[in-house]
Amino acid sequence: PPDVEQLGRSSWTLLHSIAATYPVSPTPTEQNQARQFMGLFSKLYPCWVCAEDFQEFMTRSQVRVESREEFGQWMCEAHNEVNKKLGKKEFDCSKWEERWRTGWKD
Ligand code: FAD
Repeated sequence: PPDVEQLGRSSWTLLHSIAATYPVSPTPTEQNQARQFMGLFSKLYPCWVCAEDFQEFMTRSQVRVESREEFGQWMCEAHNEVNKKLGKKEFDCSKWEERWRTGWKD
Protein backbone atom coordinates (compact mmCIF):
# COMPACT_ATOMS: atom_id res chain seq x y z
CA PRO A 1 0.00 0.00 0.00
CA PRO A 2 1.18 3.59 -0.60
CA ASP A 3 3.06 5.47 2.12
CA VAL A 4 0.30 7.17 4.15
CA GLU A 5 2.29 10.37 4.80
CA GLN A 6 3.52 10.83 1.23
CA LEU A 7 0.07 9.98 -0.09
CA GLY A 8 -1.42 12.51 2.34
CA ARG A 9 0.88 15.39 1.37
CA SER A 10 0.28 14.77 -2.34
CA SER A 11 -3.43 14.42 -1.85
CA TRP A 12 -3.81 17.62 0.17
CA THR A 13 -1.82 19.43 -2.54
CA LEU A 14 -4.27 18.16 -5.14
CA LEU A 15 -7.37 18.90 -3.04
CA HIS A 16 -6.36 22.44 -1.99
CA SER A 17 -5.25 23.16 -5.58
CA ILE A 18 -8.63 22.06 -6.89
CA ALA A 19 -10.34 24.41 -4.40
CA ALA A 20 -7.93 27.25 -5.29
CA THR A 21 -8.75 27.00 -9.01
CA TYR A 22 -12.48 26.36 -8.50
CA PRO A 23 -14.72 29.08 -9.99
CA VAL A 24 -15.50 32.09 -7.82
CA SER A 25 -19.13 31.71 -8.96
CA PRO A 26 -19.63 28.07 -10.01
CA THR A 27 -22.60 26.96 -12.10
CA PRO A 28 -24.96 24.33 -10.66
CA THR A 29 -23.20 21.74 -12.89
CA GLU A 30 -19.78 22.71 -11.52
CA GLN A 31 -21.14 22.53 -7.98
CA ASN A 32 -22.48 19.03 -8.61
CA GLN A 33 -19.16 17.92 -10.07
CA ALA A 34 -17.26 19.19 -7.03
CA ARG A 35 -19.70 17.47 -4.67
CA GLN A 36 -19.48 14.21 -6.61
CA PHE A 37 -15.70 14.39 -6.80
CA MET A 38 -15.37 14.74 -3.02
CA GLY A 39 -17.86 11.93 -2.40
CA LEU A 40 -15.99 9.58 -4.73
CA PHE A 41 -12.60 10.72 -3.45
CA SER A 42 -13.64 9.83 0.10
CA LYS A 43 -14.67 6.36 -1.07
CA LEU A 44 -11.64 5.65 -3.27
CA TYR A 45 -8.90 7.15 -1.07
CA PRO A 46 -6.29 4.38 -0.85
CA CYS A 47 -5.82 4.43 2.93
CA TRP A 48 -8.89 2.70 4.30
CA VAL A 49 -8.76 4.00 7.90
CA CYS A 50 -8.28 7.51 6.54
CA ALA A 51 -11.14 7.06 4.07
CA GLU A 52 -13.49 5.73 6.71
CA ASP A 53 -12.90 8.69 9.05
CA PHE A 54 -13.07 11.15 6.17
CA GLN A 55 -16.44 9.78 5.05
CA GLU A 56 -17.66 10.10 8.61
CA PHE A 57 -16.44 13.74 8.67
CA MET A 58 -18.27 14.39 5.39
CA THR A 59 -21.58 13.18 6.84
CA ARG A 60 -21.12 15.51 9.84
CA SER A 61 -19.82 18.45 7.81
CA GLN A 62 -21.25 18.44 4.30
CA VAL A 63 -19.00 19.72 1.57
CA ARG A 64 -19.66 23.39 0.69
CA VAL A 65 -19.25 24.09 -3.02
CA GLU A 66 -21.30 27.27 -3.62
CA SER A 67 -18.17 29.36 -4.22
CA ARG A 68 -14.35 29.12 -4.31
CA GLU A 69 -14.22 30.77 -0.90
CA GLU A 70 -16.67 28.25 0.63
CA PHE A 71 -14.98 25.25 -0.99
CA GLY A 72 -11.52 26.43 0.10
CA GLN A 73 -12.69 27.07 3.66
CA TRP A 74 -14.41 23.70 3.84
CA MET A 75 -11.28 21.94 2.55
CA CYS A 76 -9.21 23.74 5.17
CA GLU A 77 -11.63 22.64 7.89
CA ALA A 78 -11.51 19.06 6.59
CA HIS A 79 -7.70 19.13 6.67
CA ASN A 80 -7.76 20.61 10.19
CA GLU A 81 -9.98 17.75 11.31
CA VAL A 82 -7.22 15.33 10.24
CA ASN A 83 -4.52 17.59 11.75
CA LYS A 84 -6.38 17.48 15.06
CA LYS A 85 -6.77 13.71 14.93
CA LEU A 86 -3.03 13.30 14.29
CA GLY A 87 -2.02 15.80 17.01
CA LYS A 88 -0.72 18.31 14.44
CA LYS A 89 -1.11 22.07 14.70
CA GLU A 90 -4.31 23.50 13.25
CA PHE A 91 -3.92 25.73 10.22
CA ASP A 92 -5.38 29.26 10.23
CA CYS A 93 -8.09 28.96 7.57
CA SER A 94 -8.09 32.72 6.90
CA LYS A 95 -4.76 31.98 5.17
CA TRP A 96 -5.77 29.07 2.90
CA GLU A 97 -5.84 31.18 -0.26
CA GLU A 98 -2.50 32.78 0.50
CA ARG A 99 -1.01 29.28 0.98
CA TRP A 100 -2.64 27.59 -2.01
CA ARG A 101 -3.50 30.23 -4.61
CA THR A 102 -1.90 33.63 -4.36
CA GLY A 103 1.31 32.60 -2.58
CA TRP A 104 2.82 33.86 0.67
CA LYS A 105 3.80 37.51 0.63
CA ASP A 106 7.25 37.73 2.18
P1 FAD B 1 0.05 17.72 5.55
O1 FAD B 1 -0.98 17.57 6.62
O2 FAD B 1 0.07 16.70 4.46
O3 FAD B 1 -0.12 19.18 4.93
C1 FAD B 1 0.64 19.63 3.80
C2 FAD B 1 0.71 21.14 3.84
O4 FAD B 1 -0.60 21.68 3.79
C3 FAD B 1 1.28 21.70 5.13
O5 FAD B 1 2.67 21.78 5.10
C4 FAD B 1 0.64 23.08 5.23
O6 FAD B 1 1.36 24.05 4.51
C5 FAD B 1 -0.67 22.90 4.54
N1 FAD B 1 -1.80 22.75 5.47
C6 FAD B 1 -1.81 22.12 6.68
N2 FAD B 1 -3.04 22.16 7.20
C7 FAD B 1 -3.82 22.82 6.32
C8 FAD B 1 -5.18 23.18 6.31
N3 FAD B 1 -6.01 22.87 7.31
N4 FAD B 1 -5.65 23.86 5.25
C9 FAD B 1 -4.83 24.20 4.23
N5 FAD B 1 -3.53 23.89 4.17
C10 FAD B 1 -3.02 23.20 5.21
N6 FAD B 1 -2.85 10.28 7.93
C11 FAD B 1 -2.95 9.40 8.97
O7 FAD B 1 -1.93 9.01 9.54
N7 FAD B 1 -4.18 8.99 9.41
C12 FAD B 1 -5.35 9.40 8.82
O8 FAD B 1 -6.45 8.98 9.21
C13 FAD B 1 -5.25 10.30 7.70
N8 FAD B 1 -6.36 10.71 7.03
C14 FAD B 1 -6.23 11.47 5.92
C15 FAD B 1 -7.38 11.82 5.18
C16 FAD B 1 -7.27 12.54 4.01
C17 FAD B 1 -8.51 12.87 3.23
C18 FAD B 1 -5.99 12.95 3.54
C19 FAD B 1 -5.86 13.70 2.24
C20 FAD B 1 -4.86 12.63 4.28
C21 FAD B 1 -4.95 11.89 5.46
N9 FAD B 1 -3.82 11.55 6.22
C22 FAD B 1 -3.95 10.71 7.29
C23 FAD B 1 -2.48 12.12 5.88
C24 FAD B 1 -2.19 13.36 6.75
O9 FAD B 1 -3.25 14.32 6.68
C25 FAD B 1 -0.91 14.10 6.28
O10 FAD B 1 -0.99 14.37 4.89
C26 FAD B 1 0.39 13.35 6.56
O11 FAD B 1 0.43 13.00 7.92
C27 FAD B 1 1.61 14.25 6.20
O12 FAD B 1 1.54 15.41 7.01
P2 FAD B 1 2.41 16.71 6.87
O13 FAD B 1 2.70 17.15 8.26
O14 FAD B 1 3.54 16.47 5.95
O15 FAD B 1 1.48 17.82 6.21
